[in-house]
Amino acid sequence: MSDLGDRIREMIAADGPMPVEHFMSLALTHPTLGYYTTRDPLGAAGDFTTSPEISQMFGELIGLWAAEVWMNMGAPSVLRLVELGPGRGTLMLDALRAARVSPPFLAALDVHLVETSPVLTAVQKTTLKDAPAPVAWHGSIADVPDGPAIVIANEFVDALPVRQYVKTLQGWSERVVGLAPDGSLAFGAAPGQEDHIAAAAPDGAVLEVGAIGYRVMLDLATRLVRQGGAALIIDYGHAQTGFGETLQALAQHRAVDPLAAPGEADLTTHVDFAALARAARASGATVVGPVRQADFLRRLGVAERAESLKRRASPLQAADIDRALARLTSTTPEPGAGMRAAPGMGELFKVLAVLQKGLPPAPGFMDATETA
Ligand code: SAH
Repeated sequence: MSDLGDRIREMIAADGPMPVEHFMSLALTHPTLGYYTTRDPLGAAGDFTTSPEISQMFGELIGLWAAEVWMNMGAPSVLRLVELGPGRGTLMLDALRAARVSPPFLAALDVHLVETSPVLTAVQKTTLKDAPAPVAWHGSIADVPDGPAIVIANEFVDALPVRQYVKTLQGWSERVVGLAPDGSLAFGAAPGQEDHIAAAAPDGAVLEVGAIGYRVMLDLATRLVRQGGAALIIDYGHAQTGFGETLQALAQHRAVDPLAAPGEADLTTHVDFAALARAARASGATVVGPVRQADFLRRLGVAERAESLKRRASPLQAADIDRALARLTSTTPEPGAGMRAAPGMGELFKVLAVLQKGLPPAPGFMDATETA
């Protein structure tokens, strides 16, 4: 058990079992012992690897995506380029490098990073120390100054705490974390019934509700509708709301028990893209997608970008570029690639765009149905 695990057991002993949402929130962002508060979890030496850490092509293509959307917005003279949960700052670094192809776009950029982790904020400051645009940091998206904005979030929503409900013989109950007879942490069901959940499901079924993510999307889409702009949400998850538990813990690239050592393992859930789309539409925004990451990147020209990088690469580097391209766009399971890569990042990861009303179709979504 971790230090944070001991604290959580004390809290439960004093106040009773806590909702899964509260447990996730403590495990990830407790001010002194939370997982993201205390470490840089990314990369081969860490717990997981993300698309921008796999290849520079990922951030570069997103930079070009933003430049085109900025043109579609009428090229406002100041654009807030916002990233939620920027990790090591790698995506932003690559996006800003690609943005140099359009000097007027680069000149309009005012970069805002929304990050709660002091450790990752320090890494981002180093990564972006020579950034070709002003960069500011905030603890909340509400603190980003007004104005037209393009907002990027890669593997951010999966880290937001969710509520879980479990179907029992009596009805739906909120799933909680309590204490087993031996004093260890254990899942259970709260005694009260959640009569507002009408869904019919077999006993034992689990329903995950990303209430925090829904609220973030409502506020974000409201801002984009009022002040102009677009958001690009990239994450692993499902296109339709459904039953099933997706809470997973990852340490050193392996799945571990989410209750074993809170604060020491990454804790995530699969993103319910249908719910995010509902929130954005409820705010009056246009929603496109989700589309598969493989289709999105191919439409943005990832294969061509790989070829052009390979022309200037050594044979060893060229093999790396091919491997990265295959990993980002693969739609079949990669043997031994760990949980996050199954069934292939190109398939598992989805991309959703949220746009102010009246914008032309966003690049990368050509054949996607507009869902509003
Ligand atoms: N986007 C990066 C990092 C993904 S990891 C990449 O693709 O590599 C999740 C990121 O979200 C981390 O930077 C983490 O510190 C941040 N984060 C987690 N919860 C957050 C919250 N509630 N508010 C802001 N940032 C958060």
